[in-house]
Amino acid sequence: MEFKLSTRRADSVFIVDLAGKITAGDALTALRQTIRDEVAKGHNKILLNLKDVSYVDSSGLGELIMALGTVTQTTCAKCGATVFKDEEGNWDPCPQCESTERKPWGQLKLSNPGRQVTDLLQFTKLYSVFDVHESEEQALASFKSR
Ligand SMILES: [Zn+2]
Repeated sequence: MEFKLSTRRADSVFIVDLAGKITAGDALTALRQTIRDEVAKGHNKILLNLKDVSYVDSSGLGELIMALGTVTQTTCAKCGATVFKDEEGNWDPCPQCESTERKPWGQLKLSNPGRQVTDLLQFTKLYSVFDVHESEEQALASFKSR
């Protein structure tokens, strides 16, 4: 099946419906651009619905990890500015307000992974890195509980 991507909204959560194969090429470009656009618009609750995804390869998995990193990037807990690590890997204080309190910017969750995707996530030990839910309803509920 051809890769497809569409977006919709459920209250404050932005849902990205993915379908087909997430493999090197157009699929990754489309996914990356969508995540960047949503983040740029300030949408900080993003659910990737994998219900109709038939196959993810290692580059597709890399793109999912990148999406997670983009949405959950570390920000200042006081003013929301992006904070960075120094050369030794320690967090610098906030460049705007000098605060050392940090929090992830947003949340990204996955729902409805098929057998192949579930196996891939478990095999690569990434299942626990992502917040994976069996159904969209469960995923949406977990956004609300925070
Ligand atoms: Zn700050």
